[in-house]
Parts: sequence; C-alpha cells; structure tokens
Amino acid sequence: MNAIIEDGNNAIVVVTPNAVIKAVNHITCEFLGYKKEELIGSPFSLILEEGKPYLENVFNELMKQGSIFHRETGYLSKNGKKIPVLLSGTAVYGQDRKIQEALFAALNVAGINRIEEELRIALDQRDRNIKELGYLMYFSCLINDEMQEDSLIKRMSWAIKEHFEPDVLVIATIDMEKNCLVVPLIDPPIPASEFIREEVLINPSQCDVLRTGKEHFVTDIRYEPSCKCMVHKLKEGGYACVPLMVGGVPIGMMLLIKKQSCYWEEKQMQKLLLVCMGLASSALYRVRLLEYSKHAAITDALTGIYNRRFFDEMLEKQIALAGRNKEPLSIIIADIDNFKKLNDKYGHIMGDRALQYVAKVMKGCIRLSDILARYGGEEFVIIMPATNTMNAMEKAEQIRQRVESIRLEMENGEGYPALTISIGVATFPVHGTESKAFVWAADEALLLAKKRGKNMVMTP
Ligand code: GH3
Ligand code: MG
Ligand code: MG
Repeated sequence: MNAIIEDGNNAIVVVTPNAVIKAVNHITCEFLGYKKEELIGSPFSLILEEGKPYLENVFNELMKQGSIFHRETGYLSKNGKKIPVLLSGTAVYGQDRKIQEALFAALNVAGINRIEEELRIALDQRDRNIKELGYLMYFSCLINDEMQEDSLIKRMSWAIKEHFEPDVLVIATIDMEKNCLVVPLIDPPIPASEFIREEVLINPSQCDVLRTGKEHFVTDIRYEPSCKCMVHKLKEGGYACVPLMVGGVPIGMMLLIKKQSCYWEEKQMQKLLLVCMGLASSALYRVRLLEYSKHAAITDALTGIYNRRFFDEMLEKQIALAGRNKEPLSIIIADIDNFKKLNDKYGHIMGDRALQYVAKVMKGCIRLSDILARYGGEEFVIIMPATNTMNAMEKAEQIRQRVESIRLEMENGEGYPALTISIGVATFPVHGTESKAFVWAADEALLLAKKRGKNMVMTP
C-alpha cells in the first residue's frame, strides 16, 4: 500500500474507520510541514480546516455511498495556514464487506484559485477597456460634427457629465483677442466671479495649469493644497483641472470637482480624462478656425467692417426683400476727399489710420439693420433697409459732419490733416430697380459731389 500511496502527485492520507491517520505519503508531509511520525496515529481532524464536524460528515457520506466523492475544502498546515484543496475520498472494504479504512487524496487548488482570480481581473480590465473605448468613440462623434463654439461646449459638458459625473463642472476658454478667461459653462450655474478669482479671469497666466500647460489632479483636498484660482476652498473630495492645448498653446481649461475623495487617484481615470481633453481641444480649435475663416472671408482686415464681396451678396438680397415688402432701400457711397495727397504728405500708415477712423465713425452712426462695408480703396458703402432718400441724406449729412470733425493725431505733434468725405445717395426703386443701375446712380451722385467742390452729400 505504501508503494501505491507514494506514487503520484496527490497528497494522500489513509484513515481508519475511527478517523485516525494510518498512513500518509511524503507529499502530504511536505505540503503540511509535518513529519510522517507526527501525523500517523493523530486524528484526521488535525489537518482539516473545518475540524471534527466536517470529518463526521465526510465519514457518514462515505459510509452511505461507499464510493468516491469530491469536495472543495481546506487543509490546515502545521503552522496553522489554511490551504484550499479539492478532497477526493473513497472507502476501502475488507473481506467482511465492512469499511476497513478510507483513502483521501487532496489536490492543492490555491494555484488554480489564483489563476482564476487573475483571469477575472484580466476580464474585468478588458471589459473596462472596451467600455472606455466605446465612450471615447461616442465623445469624439458627439463633438466632431459641431460647427459652433457655444453648442460644442454644451455637447462636451453632456459627454463629460455622462461618464465622470462631476459634482461641479467648469469649462473656461481663452478669448485670444482680449487675452482673458471666459467661462461659458459652470454646472450647477454659479456666477464665474464667485468661483474663479477675478485676477485669473482678467489674466489667465495667473492660473498654473494654463501657464504651464500641465494638468493638476487633487485626489483628497484634506491632504493636498488646492489651486489659488478658486474663490472658496473646497471642503471635501478632490478635483481635476486640465488645460485645453493646441500646439503647446493653451486655449482653455476644464475643471471637474468630485465630492468623493480618491476618485482621481486612479491612473486609468486620469488617462481617460486627458484623452477626452485632447479630443475636446482639437474640436474647440477646429470650430474657432472655422469661425475665423468665415469671418475673414467677409471682413476687411484693415477696418474690421464687411468687405466688397459681402456687400455685393447682401445688396442683391436686400433689393429682393425690399421689392417683396414694397419698401424703399437706400445706399450711401462715401469717398475720402484728396486721399492721395494725405497719403503722399503724411505716409501710408497715416492713410491707413484715416481709413480706420472713418470706418469707426460711420459704424457709430448707423442702425443695427444697416450694413457698412469697405467698397474699395478709400470708398465706403452703407445699405440702409426701409430708408427713403430724405432719411438717407440726413444720415449721410450726419456722417459727413462727423468725419469733418475727426482730428487725426500726428506723431510729431504737428497740426491735423484735413479729413473730409463726399457722399452719393441713391434709393431703390426710384433711382434703379436692379443692383448695377442702383449702385451706378449712387456713384453718379458721388461724382457730382466731387465736381461741385467735395465735402458734400448729393443725390441723382
Ligand atoms: P478724390 O478727392 O477725387 O477722391 O481724390 P483721391 O486722392 O481721394 O482719390 P484717388 O483715387 O486719386 O486716390 C485714392 C488713393 O487711395 C490712392 C491709393 O493709394 C489710396 N489707397 C487705396 N487703398 C488704400 C489703403 O488701404 N491704405 C492707404 N494708406 N491708401 C490707400
Ligand atoms: Mg476713390
Ligand atoms: Mg477719394
């Protein structure tokens, strides 16, 4: 029997009907840290994790069934360590058909359990990765077909809230022209100045995250210092403050506050947020470029008012509208007098400044529904919907007087160069029913004003 039980890979124990260990193999001894002599003659319950009650149970079953059984249970080593085993038992019968002894073989399943656990962790990780990938695709789709900045910001906030569930979400963007921080979104809504310090709103470089372009994660506010940007110190939880960067230049930032501490501790969560912010930055930059190119296509770079192209398009539309509504529509064409001389005498830079001043003065005189454009070199036009000749002449006269009173500052402190304009006014449908004839009529009136001595308003 010894030869049989010493052969094989299982820990084998032979037990008498009254549960005393009769024989063990060396694997059992090594496995449990006992010497053979210590085990032989000892009760079987000595090495069973669940002790005597379990043993009785096993024996009863063995008596009843008299055949092999398998159980997951635990052995106890000499130093008290529990070892999970798959225990198989069988009864050995004598010639009298009575159980003479029972034979138990234990397989150490600790290794198997560990592999199962590792597999479960790997599967959980895989599921999480798939879920995050799905979320990133959703995030990217949601923001990529958006053309306008305000609706893009709204969509970003939906998507961010859906996954990260922040208790407070702040999206701030840098106004490149004014170099200030604007806050298009705070959820729940709080005035921006009650949340972010005024000096940071005025000067974004006061924010460490925007200045350095490096994200800032606070996992537990009780143990880590918070940013100086916030008006109130948070009482609990943590936050993530991440810059929106394009080509190393900050264009905004997002702040996600969680009441739950340690939420941002997990590196995987941080990484996911950073990838989202990368996508958000590109989308924000894209809509800004789009808005800029749309604006640039219809704007005159020097004066900031509409260009000739926009004027031509708008005039056609406004004539059609006026025709349908049976309303008059007037245009004013203004041309700076003796501009060539001004350029020659004071230089082109001064000439440019004069153009900017005239555009500004004209813009200040018109209604919101009027359209002011630079028509050519030193010529400006205004489309005035629902305006008859008399009212347009009055407006033109007001503009002429205001331009006449412009005092161009000279860098060397010398006197002011004279700045005047001549204006031609024409009205639809009296002076023309289609755009070319209509503009030609206003041009003719302007020519008349030039011939009659300049600095005056004329109509055909
Ligand atoms: P008039 O009183 O008859 O209108 O004479 P004028 O000198 O104003 O008109 P003219 O057409 O002879 O000259 C217009 C000048 O405007 C010539 C051109 O160099 C200048 N000009 C056109 N565009 C610009 C510009 O963008 N900047 C500057 N500085 N000058 C410009
Ligand atoms: Mg001209
Ligand atoms: Mg001129």
